[in-house]
Amino acid sequence: MALLNFLGAIQQVTGSCYLIESRDGARVLLDCGMRQGRREEEDGNSAPFAFDPRSLDAVVISHAHIDHTGLLPKLTAAGYRGPIFATDASCELMELMLLDAAFLQEKDAEWENKWRARMGKPATRPLYTTADAEQALSQRRALPYQQVCEVAKGVQITFHDAGHILGSAIVEIAVQDHHLTRRLVFSGDLGNTCSPLLRDPSPLSQADVVLLESTYGDRDHRCSEATLDELAEILQQAHRDGGNVLIPSFAVGRTQDLIYHLGRFYQEGRLPQQAVFLDSPMAIRANAIYSRNYDQFAEADLAMLRAKNVKRVEDWLPILRCTPTPEESMAINRIKSGAIIIAGSGMCTGGRIVHHFKHNIWRQECHVVFPGFQARGTLGRSIVDGAEFIKVLHQRFAVRAKVHTLGGFSAHAGRAQLIDWVSHFDHHPELYLVHGELEKMQALQKTLKEQLNWDASIPEPGEQIAI
Ligand SMILES: [Zn+2]
Repeated sequence: MALLNFLGAIQQVTGSCYLIESRDGARVLLDCGMRQGRREEEDGNSAPFAFDPRSLDAVVISHAHIDHTGLLPKLTAAGYRGPIFATDASCELMELMLLDAAFLQEKDAEWENKWRARMGKPATRPLYTTADAEQALSQRRALPYQQVCEVAKGVQITFHDAGHILGSAIVEIAVQDHHLTRRLVFSGDLGNTCSPLLRDPSPLSQADVVLLESTYGDRDHRCSEATLDELAEILQQAHRDGGNVLIPSFAVGRTQDLIYHLGRFYQEGRLPQQAVFLDSPMAIRANAIYSRNYDQFAEADLAMLRAKNVKRVEDWLPILRCTPTPEESMAINRIKSGAIIIAGSGMCTGGRIVHHFKHNIWRQECHVVFPGFQARGTLGRSIVDGAEFIKVLHQRFAVRAKVHTLGGFSAHAGRAQLIDWVSHFDHHPELYLVHGELEKMQALQKTLKEQLNWDASIPEPGEQIAI
């Protein structure tokens, strides 16, 4: 009998990790994500793996986000030398994400060691290094959607489009067990059907066991048209006020959606600003990867881009100005009005956005737009919660800019979309809820019972089941 171990993103949204062990002894790891959020959770990243990395036959990655891939360099540092399977676009995006993550780990350790030296404490080592990330990247194996591949003896996988970020996949896994084939489907992160550019998550119908993400298990998203009208109105107001608009954004996914929306406003004559600055080296590189993979976009959006003869982002939003270097970034400081500035980090925990706060947040004619969820404990959250002052770059600033939160840009499926996706399975499979906070899972569990009369289980961290 094959076994499935629930190792990460269990009753929480980060650290995605599952281990499948076949009856014949094949061991396949599904995702190897980093825990993010509160300090105690992040401390878990340095704990040893719950399995011997050298004993794995293969690793399969659903998509490039760090909470699904961020511990791959630690895995290779611990001796894993086998293949890491992901879609072609995920392989490209992983390079950006893992090298950036390694750089941050090294910088954090360097900073901490300065402090430790002053306290007479021994130096600490980074969680992993750039060399470890490079090693992990060298083990990537790209696999197109819909292609069946045997990744370990008796274990076949197929990627299906999840529509969450470029390259994101629902993973279908067939495990041979004697003469039987057991079919496991891992939803990965499912996309929001209202998001632009990407296709809707592929519906699947055959499975014995389904792992369903439940990030938004308790609520439906607002329709994106209403959110877009709200954004358009904020931009008009900022224009009337004569200030800049700051948008903290994640580099991969959210930023490309925003550029697409702003491009649409531009094409429709609804964008009053004179320049949109993309002030994030990582987002600029991610844009290039998105542009190279146009063929993976949804047909309707692709048709709109083709109709305008758009081949690169710059053709869609001609006032987009990319500022990769620190000098170009600093030059934006001189602009006092008429600019939209998109910069990371998405929750304002660092990155170039904090420099733009320094120059804009104390000015009442400016606007700050949060296009996504801000986790507790982050600078973004305290601004959203109405902080009157913030401290960035060792200085205090009054928050006088107008602050807006837009809820409709999520890259995750809302409750009704999750229910709709899972309802396509024939013969009610065993259903396990993963990747969600406990209350959201309980809400989804209740709705699944009410609407489909399906029972769903909420596994405990470390729980093992037979599949
Ligand atoms: Zn994700």
